[in-house]
Amino acid sequence: MKTYDIICIGAGILGSMHAYHAALKGKKVLLIERDVKPYEGTVRNFGQVVPSGQALPTWREIGVESLNIYKSIQEKFDISIRNNGSTYLASNEIEMALLEEMHEVNKSMGYPSELLTRDACLSKFSLLQKSYCVGGLFYPQEVSAEPNHLIYRLIEFITKSLPIDFLNHHTVVGCEIKNEHCITSLANGEKIKSDKIIVCSGREFKILFPEIFQTSGLQISKLQMMLSRPMPEINLPGNILTGMTIRRYEGFHSLPSYSKLSYNDWELKLKEKGIHILFKQAIDGSIILGDSHEYADASNPECLDFGISLPINQMMIKEAQRIMNLPSWEIVNTWNGYYATHPNEIFTHDIEHRIHIITGIGGKGMTCSAGFSRRNIDRILQ
Ligand SMILES: Cc1cc2nc3c(=O)[nH]c(=O)nc-3n(C[C@H](O)[C@H](O)[C@H](O)COP(=O)(O)OP(=O)(O)OC[C@H]3O[C@@H](n4cnc5c(N)ncnc54)[C@H](O)[C@@H]3O)c2cc1C
Repeated sequence: MKTYDIICIGAGILGSMHAYHAALKGKKVLLIERDVKPYEGTVRNFGQVVPSGQALPTWREIGVESLNIYKSIQEKFDISIRNNGSTYLASNEIEMALLEEMHEVNKSMGYPSELLTRDACLSKFSLLQKSYCVGGLFYPQEVSAEPNHLIYRLIEFITKSLPIDFLNHHTVVGCEIKNEHCITSLANGEKIKSDKIIVCSGREFKILFPEIFQTSGLQISKLQMMLSRPMPEINLPGNILTGMTIRRYEGFHSLPSYSKLSYNDWELKLKEKGIHILFKQAIDGSIILGDSHEYADASNPECLDFGISLPINQMMIKEAQRIMNLPSWEIVNTWNGYYATHPNEIFTHDIEHRIHIITGIGGKGMTCSAGFSRRNIDRILQ
């Protein structure tokens, strides 16, 4: 029987980053993915790495650790990280007050940000609607990734440079502890031995440990996304986050002006569908545009409609048009993405210090998984 120190199940960003940090600690690791290549939340997202929006202070700090990890890997191997910053655009005075208060928090934490006047925003983004923006906040250190490249390049990097084997197209159907070690069972009947197992199976709650997931408090969120035709003639640099994002992201919830926010009829309709508009221009000039949120309990994911709601897409385009005056609104692709989420920001469950289940990092997985995994590997190997 093959033997490893650690087996990581699921090669999304959480599983791959746990494999990376375990191998950096000298462990011999096997990373197992059921699909030919990962194609869940880790490839269906915006690729915005935005510690600025995360709950203060812990998840902000974890996000900043992730930034540094991504940048250090990018120096050695191209994993598609671009250091082009994040800009939040406020649509009214209360949202602007939240950006000003956040700027003060950033100063106290030593995290660089720059307040932008309305004119500065309009000159930075020539397509920005004059009627939308009252000002902004820019984070020069933040990065973006190409979600349809990042995980594949990361897996290539970690398997080439560290003692990590990657086994794709194999579903893990069982994990058990036997005589002071773990046994991982694959769907083809093969069994593999290890000291520890780390389960990062994303929103898959039915194959492994269904009884734990049923009562875990985990939820699945379904998001709708769109992609415009390539527009290399325009320039929308970095991660662009807008007024409804300032209202939605946890980082802003603890600030004094948060309780002063009010919603008009249109904003209430957006809030009801969990819509906030983010723009992210990909390397080919196309723009990833989204998103909306619907939720279901881990015990009943089927209650989420399987289709893409065209009225939701239309609402997102209408809100996006209020913000940017793009030369074309031709949508060439639209898809659903899903992530697991938990009220405690992440779900972790340990079985006898040998099997460690980690999922439910929510909408911050591309931002926080690298830093969280480093901390979690330190804890698991203690
Ligand atoms: C539309 C969308 C936009 C987003 N935008 C952003 C963003 O801009 N910034 C940000 O920070 N976050 C963003 N997120 C969140 C982020 O993408 C997720 O938090 C993250 O991808 C979750 O990673 P994961 O590894 O936990 O799960 P997944 O990506 O779901 O990976 C889990 C993997 O486990 C595998 N697996 C499951 N069960 C088994 C098994 N039994 N055997 C073998 N393999 C198994 C699956 O095939 C899968 O590949 C977004 C998410 C979505 C859906």
